[in-house]
Amino acid sequence: MTAWDALAAKRTGVPVFAPGHVWLAGAGPGDPGLLTLDALAGLGQADVVVHDALVDRRVLALAGPQARLEFAGKRGGKPSATQVDISQRLVALARAGHRVLRLKGGDPFVFGRGGEEAKTLAAAGVPFRVIPGVTAGLAALASAAIPATLRGVNRAVIFAAGHGTDEDFDWAPLARTGQPIVLYMVMHNLERIADALIKAGLDGATPAAVIASATTPRQRILVSTLANVAAAARGQKFEPPAIVVIGDIVNMRAELVGGDAAAAKEPK
Ligand code: SAH
Repeated sequence: MTAWDALAAKRTGVPVFAPGHVWLAGAGPGDPGLLTLDALAGLGQADVVVHDALVDRRVLALAGPQARLEFAGKRGGKPSATQVDISQRLVALARAGHRVLRLKGGDPFVFGRGGEEAKTLAAAGVPFRVIPGVTAGLAALASAAIPATLRGVNRAVIFAAGHGTDEDFDWAPLARTGQPIVLYMVMHNLERIADALIKAGLDGATPAAVIASATTPRQRILVSTLANVAAAARGQKFEPPAIVVIGDIVNMRAELVGGDAAAAKEPK
């Protein structure tokens, strides 16, 4: 008996996946242990699993034997030119009577374009539900022993996406809050965004960490400062997917896992 069988046998109120419905679910950051039980129930019942590149193989391995896996998403963090196609594909699969599990990395409604998919489903009259997932920004911090909030240090956390160009966004107001900033999709723009934050008044000595492939066997963590983090990440060949966190909360990692030696070490 697997761990899931034992758990499932105890759970009441497991949602039933009806034919022609779409479940728009978060797959979490990688580790299948971070799936919600509802996402797992979806994997067990779905006829088709439409997944992104970010969805971990170990999560997909939990799909039932009846499920057909279909890749639909972005590769290499490039913006998808086919978002409309993906949304339309969900509608077509549902109309064909399938139980469609749309699995997206992290949380479907956090920087994942899940909102657009939900909008298309709603407009097409396809019944759907949204199942949250553990978003990478929070999972990466937890995995790196960095509390997202710490009494006396911060009372807000900013989640921001680092893709795009200078004209897209004004970083200065974020810097002025003095609250920690958790950046998604930032690896290609880290130098520029760090500079913008420093120009806006954030101290270059503010602690900053990069957490790549959080909760997977490839997880890597780097602790630096705002002024040096981009060069350090480049020098150590950190690659996406990665979360960058800037703020004094990063200091807590050294206290929890024991200083510089631990900063370079994998947590598991
Ligand atoms: N919906 C997702 C985010 C999708 S945007 C969520 O809620 O997590 C893609 C970005 O998510 C990546 O560029 C990276 O910044 C982040 N990301 C996703 N999985 C990650 C992981 N395992 N480790 C670190 N960052 C991750």
